[in-house]
Amino acid sequence: MCDEIENIKYEYVQSNTLRLEHEDETNETKDGFEVLCDNFLFYRRRKNKDSNYWVCKHKKWNLSMTIGFDGKVRSISKKSHSLQEMREGVNPADVHLPLTEFQILTLHFIKKVKLRCSTEDVGSNKIFEDEQNKLFKSLKTDEEKNNVASLIIIIQWVLGQITTWKGITIN
Ligand SMILES: [Zn+2]
Repeated sequence: MCDEIENIKYEYVQSNTLRLEHEDETNETKDGFEVLCDNFLFYRRRKNKDSNYWVCKHKKWNLSMTIGFDGKVRSISKKSHSLQEMREGVNPADVHLPLTEFQILTLHFIKKVKLRCSTEDVGSNKIFEDEQNKLFKSLKTDEEKNNVASLIIIIQWVLGQITTWKGITIN
């Protein structure tokens, strides 16, 4: 069991509350970040003395984990994510699936754009274009580009219209 916990891979990703001073190696409490683990996002519910308590962002099924400020996973709850696919008769808010590679790329993209818009003295359209170009350069096949392009269109619409996207709050 101890072995399993040590093998859990995760990464910190920017949250909506990220400010420039958080992007600093001394920010060991990871203020302004979320955890991405197994393609699920976790938000920080509690900050302890030397660890953070993170909970899956889906409102219904709360898988949780504790990660020390040293970066080591201390514990993870035994519950599963209880996956729910989208189908007839299922409330879209209840859908709970791991993020795809493209959704994760797009999530990073949109958060980068938002951070730059809030910190740089450059027009938001310019920043959007700039980051979009960078993102597309990182993609190899036309299929990848088409996938991401359609996600960006959805996200642009979502940002203007509603605040949730596949159960994930993005602003
Ligand atoms: Zn979950």
